Amino acid sequence: MGRAPSPCIVVHYHEISLKGGNRPLFLRRLGRNLLAATAGCGVRGVRRLPGRLVLDLDPEADLPEVRERIGTLFGIAYFAPALSIPPEWPVVQAAVLQLLEGRTFESFRITARRTFKVFPMPSDEINRELGALVLRHFATRVNLTEPTLNVRVDLLPREAFVFVDRVTGPGGLPVGVSGRVAALLSGGIDSPVAACRLQKRGCEVEFVHFHSVPYLADTSQRKVRALVERLVRHQFSARLWLVPFGEIQREVVLGVPAPLRVVVYRRLMARITEAIARKTGALALVTGESLGQVASQTLENIARMTEAVGMPVLRPLIGTDKEEIIREARAIGTFEISIEPDQDCCTLFVPKHPETRASAEAVAAAEARLDMARLVEAGVESAAPETFRFPPAEAGALLSAGS
Ligand code: ATP
Ligand code: MG
Repeated sequence: MGRAPSPCIVVHYHEISLKGGNRPLFLRRLGRNLLAATAGCGVRGVRRLPGRLVLDLDPEADLPEVRERIGTLFGIAYFAPALSIPPEWPVVQAAVLQLLEGRTFESFRITARRTFKVFPMPSDEINRELGALVLRHFATRVNLTEPTLNVRVDLLPREAFVFVDRVTGPGGLPVGVSGRVAALLSGGIDSPVAACRLQKRGCEVEFVHFHSVPYLADTSQRKVRALVERLVRHQFSARLWLVPFGEIQREVVLGVPAPLRVVVYRRLMARITEAIARKTGALALVTGESLGQVASQTLENIARMTEAVGMPVLRPLIGTDKEEIIREARAIGTFEISIEPDQDCCTLFVPKHPETRASAEAVAAAEARLDMARLVEAGVESAAPETFRFPPAEAGALLSAGS
């Protein structure tokens, strides 16, 4: 032992999310995601210790960048940039002084914790001794209830960690543990939030967008690209399927009475997305619908869309108010992109008074005048996937070229 303190990040997860047999999968995936998120930042590797994961850093690692990259990683309850040391009393004392070097702090406390109680001193005594040590070296005072700095010492049987800042993570499950879903991404406020909620529950998302180029400008495509660039941070690699929908809509307009068109568009979108889902191994669809938010999001119309497909349609925002959705969109960084002016494909060929309670019979009669199977096939065949990565390939290449 006797090695020098080495920089690391201690990562904690919610034990409660590890119920049942999913612990090994959860930890393996969280470890992999931590490495993927911090690629190019000077991370040496990831280790599994009782109750936490440890990211070992090069001494010259880009700590602010690492903090930023893992700050939004799903599966993390909280994390702390720390010094890893052997659990030996003189080393612990020296590491606490090293950690506080150059800082000024009005008050502090020491919070020592012994895992498995192997360390020979009781926590109270460690707190008192280290407190006295800090008081001898710094102009500060002890405040047990509201300290400026809480100096934490975690003592494990073969290793100890000292740290001051604990950063709250987003919680949730590591992306990848729950399988794959296909999200209908419109460029509006709701659907990116819906997709992100599924990422937070551990899903990898395939993004599907329907556009009406050349009937409308390509703004919606630029918006969804920007949205996927935001959301790919949570899953490192993502595909956006761009589906030309203008021609399909034109055929619907020719055959379907105006009030039913929106429902038929949605059913076509659902079926095309379902085919893409099957192709990519996704097991469910995701939409940003919220009950009653707009005329088309009634129980009847939601039922008509659901009936069109043979897989679950997940609607994580179904009971969420618009204000809450907007708050969440701001927090995940999609709001500013979503509110950019845009012409949604559903504004094209849309009647003034869409049916709010489309019956199954009316929809079936309308669709009987279309060749639905051919329209779905045309949509699937013309769907073009674009791949997004985080960290972006160029950034990764630049970083490794520089080192
Ligand atoms: P959003 O804010 O997500 O656009 P919205 O409140 O505008 O939703 P609608 O326009 O009724 O509601 O769309 C409902 C859902 O249908 C969207 O959340 C999205 O999942 C899907 N959707 C709508 N238009 C498109 C599109 N052009 N491409 C892909 N999905 C779409
Ligand atoms: Mg919309």
